[in-house]
Amino acid sequence: TLDQIQDFKGKYPRQIWSLFFSEMWERFCFYGMRGMLVFFMISQLHLDEKDANLQYGATQAFVYAFTFVGGIFADKILGFRKSLFWGGFLMIIGSVILSINPHTYFFLGISFTVVGTGFFKPNISTMVGKLYKSGDNRTDAGFSLFYAGINLGALLGGYFCVAIGKGEMFANLIPEDKRWNVAFGLAAVVMVISLINFIFTQRRLGPIGLQPLKILKDGSEVAIEKWKEYGVYVLSLIFVPLIMIMVAKTEYTDYFMYTVGPLTLLYLFYEMTKVSAVERSKLFAALIFILFSIVFWGIYEQSGGSLSIFAAQNLNQDLLGLDPNGVNNSGGAFFILLVAVPIGLLWIWLSKKKLEPNTIIKFGLGFLFLGLGFYAIFATKFFANAMGVTSLSIFTIALFIITLGEMCLSPIGLSIMTKLSTEKLQGMMMGMWFLASAYGQYVAGLIGANLATARENSSNLEKLNAYTSGYKDLGLYAIIAGVVLILISPLVKKLMHGVK
Ligand code: GLN
Repeated sequence: TLDQIQDFKGKYPRQIWSLFFSEMWERFCFYGMRGMLVFFMISQLHLDEKDANLQYGATQAFVYAFTFVGGIFADKILGFRKSLFWGGFLMIIGSVILSINPHTYFFLGISFTVVGTGFFKPNISTMVGKLYKSGDNRTDAGFSLFYAGINLGALLGGYFCVAIGKGEMFANLIPEDKRWNVAFGLAAVVMVISLINFIFTQRRLGPIGLQPLKILKDGSEVAIEKWKEYGVYVLSLIFVPLIMIMVAKTEYTDYFMYTVGPLTLLYLFYEMTKVSAVERSKLFAALIFILFSIVFWGIYEQSGGSLSIFAAQNLNQDLLGLDPNGVNNSGGAFFILLVAVPIGLLWIWLSKKKLEPNTIIKFGLGFLFLGLGFYAIFATKFFANAMGVTSLSIFTIALFIITLGEMCLSPIGLSIMTKLSTEKLQGMMMGMWFLASAYGQYVAGLIGANLATARENSSNLEKLNAYTSGYKDLGLYAIIAGVVLILISPLVKKLMHGVK
């Protein structure tokens, strides 16, 4: 039963390991795909860099935007487990399509994975929260561990898929014109492993993630009608071609972003009218976290865009001869693996001493680290040579500081969503948390484009100065946001009604 699961002894519930591995393989598939996108579009589909970047941004935004839809359907109709299977299944279809013929069916395959991720990603995170009783101070540590699983998958997938596709690995074993097929095929295989792992997990989850029941007027509960479940499956298939069209023409993505956020807010406000005053106030607190996280990701996600250009142009290899772009891509995941468990244990230790900062202060710290990290990127400028090439080592230190910020915000955000939302809105609120990431990705693209424009003819040194002064501004914004959060923390604490 649920109590047996939640009354576990020790630091972590044992079911968390199963969720850890399912999510790890899913992120392998996802980050493998993500790593291949821009490369494939430029080298194989012959898109120019600008279009490739825009379309990359659009897919990233849609992936995270769709988690909101996936979350709502899970709450209302499917339950978390069925959502997860359906999402995983769509991701497998998408990767199989890509592995059969990536050149012809590229956008079709990608759209399947976008919708699939929407059904998978928020709902597995919500299930992690369900392993804990409300108020259990081990929850944040659990999410830190889970976050390490995310990043282990990200590191492996991001590395292997791209390396195989580009022919840097197993080049002798795979004929040249089949490398991308194999790389996309690998994403499909790991996704199958993820689902098989989840099948074995299921038995140990008790009632967690089962399909919700419908409450009749007389208070009795009955199963959800089958046609509604099948309706969700059909509807999600209709989304696939729609997303395909919107990704191919990125103006549509703009319109989508302009409308979906406001509509979502309206919907949340509507749901808020149906709950008690205390629940409403907690949802409102959740919304504050969500809005701030947009700012966080908008700055943080420079890593996929402008920072990869910066890494290619302005960084040397003074760190063990490592490739600056490789470090920029996977350094964050590497550092998270290094610090996730120690930070989780630190939270437990601090809470035993009654010193654990509450969530909002942790968020504030997250922003301060993010800001310091961007100041450190700015500082690389003082180590540059006359050609505008500067130190990868200093940049790597900056990456480490930013990762500390990510650990104070991203896993904590997952955790606080499960704590602040009502039982019936868990999936939706987790979806909203990720929807904020969609906006973050979108904003990050705009900021990145802004940093990059009008500098095409400048020298490397001028580019270095322009980029680093942009990063200094971003650092300042992050620090301001952190200070604001810490200043309003007493207020938010009130809204949270005892949730920590
Ligand atoms: N890197 C984390 C993940 O993939 C967080 C992503 C996000 O919320 N933007 O789950």
